[in-house]
Amino acid sequence: MLTRRCAWCNRAWTSEGWAAEPTVDPEHETATICPGCVAVLQRLGVSR
Ligand SMILES: [Zn+2]
Repeated sequence: MLTRRCAWCNRAWTSEGWAAEPTVDPEHETATICPGCVAVLQRLGVSR
């Protein structure tokens, strides 16, 4: 199972939700942006 890691805050999405200090295998993760950072980016007007 791939783990999605936020490229902005470095949190990772696990089966239990967003983890601040995830213990995941780097080979099985993929970069993404978490909902929190998406909201920040939209507020900054970057997501145009
Ligand atoms: Zn994030």
